[in-house]
Amino acid sequence: MSGKWLKGIKETILDILFPKFCFGCGKEGEYLCSKCFLFLSETNFICPDCEKTEYFGRRHKNCRIRRSPDGMVSLWDYEGVLKKMILEMKYGLALDVLKELAPYGIHVMEKDEVRFLEFLSFLQKEGTIFTYVPLFTKREKERGFNQAELISKHFSHFFKKETLPLLKKEKETQYQVLLSREERFTNVKGAFTPLFKKDNAPQRVILVDDVWTSGATMKECCRILKENGVKEVWGFTLSKTN
Ligand SMILES: [Zn+2]
Ligand SMILES: [Zn+2]
Repeated sequence: MSGKWLKGIKETILDILFPKFCFGCGKEGEYLCSKCFLFLSETNFICPDCEKTEYFGRRHKNCRIRRSPDGMVSLWDYEGVLKKMILEMKYGLALDVLKELAPYGIHVMEKDEVRFLEFLSFLQKEGTIFTYVPLFTKREKERGFNQAELISKHFSHFFKKETLPLLKKEKETQYQVLLSREERFTNVKGAFTPLFKKDNAPQRVILVDDVWTSGATMKECCRILKENGVKEVWGFTLSKTN
């Protein structure tokens, strides 16, 4: 019997034992049905520095003082069905949910190729690699995975790029959701260290996370990457709060 057959049988058995239901309408079969996908709201892009709207997600020319990301794109607004899926992803269903969300994400990028133009051309440059916001080792062990890493791998694989771990989270921080905007920035300050030496720093990096809220975590990770020799960084998240 071929491996493909076996895989098919395994999937059928899993489907019987653990049926999937659409997070939107409850229909059996998948976590997001094609009808409910149409109701996900695609998010607008912002300058990752001042967070004002920017069509391509580029950082404004005069927002260039700090070591912030050079651009940032997200796929959907963090609300409704998408929010439910991302929360489920974090608490156990990461791979299964991503298997369905990632192709939808690629579809959004292809359909909206003008808006994604700057991001995609950065991505396609030679030597651009993907990395992700790391979790503190203890938390990753408890959870068994890092959802940002899985997202990064799904997308980098599609674009035939590599995902490499570039950062380490050195201390446990408080959950960002419980904090005010100001506190979020102080909470993550100094939490990350590089896993590479300055002389072999990658030139261009796409930094991946699941949600962009205040941008505090992404900005801090980006600062460390740039302080250690990375020339350009674009952020990429599945979703963004409005
Ligand atoms: Zn549905
Ligand atoms: Zn700006």
